[in-house]
Amino acid sequence: MTITGTDFTESTFLRQQPVKMLIGGQWVEAASGKTFETMNPSTGQVLAKVAEGDSEDIDRAVAAARKAFESGVWPKLTPSQRGRLLWKLADLIEQHAEELAQLETLNNGKPIKYSRGGDVPLTADHFRYFAGWATKLEGDTIPVSIPNMFTYTLREPVGVVGQIIPWNFPLQMAAWKLAPALACGNTVILKPAEQTPLSALRLGELIGEAGFPDGVVNIVPGFGETAGAALAAHPDVDKIAFTGSTEVGKLILQASVGNLKKVTLELGGKSPNIIFPDADLKFAIRGAINAIFFNQGQVCTAGSRLFVHKSVYDQVLSGLTDYASKMKLGMGIDPATDLGPLVSQEQLERVTGYIETGKREGATTTIGGSRPDSEQLPGYFVQPTVFDNVKDEMTIAREEIFGPVVVALPFEEVEEVAARANKSIYGLSAGVWTNDVKKVHKMAAALKAGVVWVNTYNQFDAAAPFGGYKQSGYGREMGHAVLDAYTQIKTVWVNLR
Ligand code: NDP
Repeated sequence: MTITGTDFTESTFLRQQPVKMLIGGQWVEAASGKTFETMNPSTGQVLAKVAEGDSEDIDRAVAAARKAFESGVWPKLTPSQRGRLLWKLADLIEQHAEELAQLETLNNGKPIKYSRGGDVPLTADHFRYFAGWATKLEGDTIPVSIPNMFTYTLREPVGVVGQIIPWNFPLQMAAWKLAPALACGNTVILKPAEQTPLSALRLGELIGEAGFPDGVVNIVPGFGETAGAALAAHPDVDKIAFTGSTEVGKLILQASVGNLKKVTLELGGKSPNIIFPDADLKFAIRGAINAIFFNQGQVCTAGSRLFVHKSVYDQVLSGLTDYASKMKLGMGIDPATDLGPLVSQEQLERVTGYIETGKREGATTTIGGSRPDSEQLPGYFVQPTVFDNVKDEMTIAREEIFGPVVVALPFEEVEEVAARANKSIYGLSAGVWTNDVKKVHKMAAALKAGVVWVNTYNQFDAAAPFGGYKQSGYGREMGHAVLDAYTQIKTVWVNLR
């Protein structure tokens, strides 16, 4: 197998073709024998063939996860032993950091400097943070007012958990899902996105190497309509954790009704990023660039609606345009690349479709607005694009584009911008740039979003809760907030009379 677009030498992982799935501690082919191709978005060429899981494989994986949850080694491990396994996995991720970074970049297209500097270390950090929680899942003693009763609570795992993740941060999304679920004592079936299954599968090998018992983590690559839907509807799955589009989130919720499984959803966004005139503008412009162009704009929190105070609008727009013009588009694997390709042909068509809609509806671009020269960059590339002359009602100002496309919108008053920022079906995140402490707190309170960043953007930490308001979903990931999603509370009454 030739691996295109790289001198990929660190991993022997891709040499076993097709890449198999992990069920009950075994690496197996799909029950149907089918495989699918996964691409290198930088070149548009096939990177590997992967076993294509469907409902039969999901059945096998759920049975393995159920067995591991109910009996055997996993429920007998002490919290301290569970914590050690998670810590060991973090160590292994660090030991294989370069290989994982390359795999992530090859399969997703993201610039290697971010895979190396962000995705991989944050993945290790996530497992380490939750390793600590395994020994701290405490119940309470309850001072009830009924005489002679000793009443306490236990925090118990939910059971068998299905986790469906997207392609924008394949490794980190796997960590966000797996680490808290395992710390809390659940067993898991993880379905990676069809576009980017490779790093999660390599992580599966490291999970085995760390010593997790068979069946505790099962990884079934495949398509959403088949493997994903079967997992969401499975009668023996107790909970689904999903990250992806709002549209599919609604399908997941419908599918969960059969056995009333618990569901947490981390969905789309159209996040406002608001620059006040008293902000440090140079800093704010750089922040706005990071907010929209990081990961090619394929971030659920992308600061895609840039509200700029009228008095500094022209200055900010020209700064933004200037910065964007200096960004280097290139192959993900090139260390000099700032902006890689989008993940797939489908996303390319989706994003360029939105750009055309924006132009048709009367917006104009100050930069970008098309694909770069396809001879030099044959993959799924789009230029960083800044839209001016935008109205709040336009499609590009309302819908999630999920690409390197920002709309700039002037405003005049604090109350006005808060109301306009909140006028969205989404409520995932928001940014505020100001040096006025009163504005900071007014805006933090006024914005209907699960996270508000002030004079910064796209900050994530395993200890800080993350999740959406409105149609950006519900439930929280990270921090102690996520523990509610992966445990249930049992109340025990003991009559002492
Ligand atoms: P999806 O929501 O379709 O994909 C997310 C995950 O859900 C993937 O693993 C996918 O599988 C799976 N899936 C798809 N359909 C079903 C189903 N019926 N039942 C169960 N699982 C399913 O996102 P897309 O990849 O289609 O991207 C479309 C848009 O979604 C983007 O443009 C963006 O707006 C938004 N999005 C938001 C993300 C976020 O972080 N909140 C992440 C990704 C996308 P498979 O990929 O194999 O089909």
